[in-house]
Amino acid sequence: MATATLSQFRNESVTDFSQPANRQAMEEALKKVRSEFGREYQLRIGSQWIGTGDKLSSVNPSNPNEIIGVHHRANAGLANRAVEAACAAFPQWAATPAEKRIHMTAEVARILRARKLEFDAWLVFEAGKTWPEADADVSEAIDFCEYYAREMQRLSGPQPVVQLPGEQDEMIYIPLGVGIVIPPWNFPLAILVGMTVASLVTGNTAIVKPSSETPTIGAKFAEVLLEAGFPESSFTLLTGSGAAVGDVIVQHPKTRFIAFTGSRDVGLRINELAAKTQPGQIWIKRVIAEMGGKNAIVVDGDADVDKAVDGVLFSAFGFQGQKCSACSRAIVDAKVYDQFVEKLTAKAKNLKVGSADDPGNYMGPVISAGAQKTILNYIEVGKKEGRLVVGDQPAPAGGYFIMPTIIADIDSKARIFQEEIFGPVLAVTKAQNFEHALELANDSQYGLTGALFSNTPEHLRQAKNRFHVGNLYLNRKCTGAMVGAHPFGGFNMSGTDSKAGSPDYLLLFLQAKSVATKL
Ligand code: NAD
Repeated sequence: MATATLSQFRNESVTDFSQPANRQAMEEALKKVRSEFGREYQLRIGSQWIGTGDKLSSVNPSNPNEIIGVHHRANAGLANRAVEAACAAFPQWAATPAEKRIHMTAEVARILRARKLEFDAWLVFEAGKTWPEADADVSEAIDFCEYYAREMQRLSGPQPVVQLPGEQDEMIYIPLGVGIVIPPWNFPLAILVGMTVASLVTGNTAIVKPSSETPTIGAKFAEVLLEAGFPESSFTLLTGSGAAVGDVIVQHPKTRFIAFTGSRDVGLRINELAAKTQPGQIWIKRVIAEMGGKNAIVVDGDADVDKAVDGVLFSAFGFQGQKCSACSRAIVDAKVYDQFVEKLTAKAKNLKVGSADDPGNYMGPVISAGAQKTILNYIEVGKKEGRLVVGDQPAPAGGYFIMPTIIADIDSKARIFQEEIFGPVLAVTKAQNFEHALELANDSQYGLTGALFSNTPEHLRQAKNRFHVGNLYLNRKCTGAMVGAHPFGGFNMSGTDSKAGSPDYLLLFLQAKSVATKL
């Protein structure tokens, strides 16, 4: 089975949309997905399909009049039932040979690859991703499956321990129990898939609560899991509001761990609720939380300014600044500050904003009316805190569009320097020198990604030691982490220091058991 056939891990190639055949195929995928708009999706617990009648509609953020999917929402009673069912199914799923689970996980990758453009299209319509951003998301989802399948092969084999004389000594990894998977909407496939397959391939049963902004992508992925052979009892897709069902599944005494990716505030709440032992609970819950960021790119006095401008531009405005890794602070040495701001301004003014399904647009919409309002409020705050250099042109009508916005001359105590905005808003700050720039970069409660553009080897070395972020990039953009090459996850309020797509990750979903046999 899979054990013998998995080759060395390689990252999935992204689709080259400059090729006419690929463009044509993507247009067809968009058309096919469009024909499925408005379909209704029921809940499923085990083999039972449930229509609650309490429905949630997801919309196309490029055109909110279009309903993408209609989903039956779970309530507290069903949330409790889902945990009980996952708990009942756990012993059998945990006892399923790891090889079978690995095989199913590799199958998920195969199916996603075969349906890649179709998934791209769902992401374009439900999450507002442009074609290349959607394709990168689906590629990353495939990478997580391929990578974790191989990692499980390593972890399901014998682990190296010292052999004492007269004994056979072993250490084996066993699953934890019922896992709650709570992903965000911004990588509605990759993060959902990564945390879900990590839970399942290690032998845990999972309850997956997709974001209310992107439930259709969750429902489509649930179809793939079943097609790949994962038993109905091994996972439940529990669509519902975070507030209504989230607390119930997090607090349930039979929940063993929570894998969460999202905002700082929700992550902290989950951590707090999970820490409180419930009546009947016989373990300490494990929380794997990956949270927000306020990522800085430092531009040194001797940096190649053109390269720095391109790196900042892409990191700040790709997917409308809605990546946890997005650059929201550019900290620029006084020697090149004016030149940098001028060049960045010129390029940012040329970025095209509009519907995500039109490949001519560089930026699509932000995710929702609520997000649009929050971001526009931050822009008003920013205008008082600094000098607006880009962002005064009107955004296109019809969708949740926001123009790329750059506010220069921002002080490090300003709100737009300190708070995560999660939209296309960049604060630019002048530093007196490299030391000062590093100090400013580290002046944050977060510590997710960061980058330095410099031609001074000593400064690059200093950044490696002292720029306190989980993902540091030197002379390149601060987004676009690749599974396996750039293990992903941050420090401080950016999370629990876990690293997705790394050899450490699956250990978070397992516990080690030592067995010593007297010979
Ligand atoms: P969010 O915190 O609002 O929601 C995340 C998930 O939590 C959603 O599924 C939501 O329904 C659920 N939720 C909300 N309230 C809940 C509750 N009380 N109990 C349980 N679940 C609840 O975040 P978002 O807006 O979906 O995503 C954006 C945030 O995610 C940003 O802060 C971004 O930086 C962060 N993010 C971090 C990473 C990372 O790897 N560190 C990756 C992507 C996104």
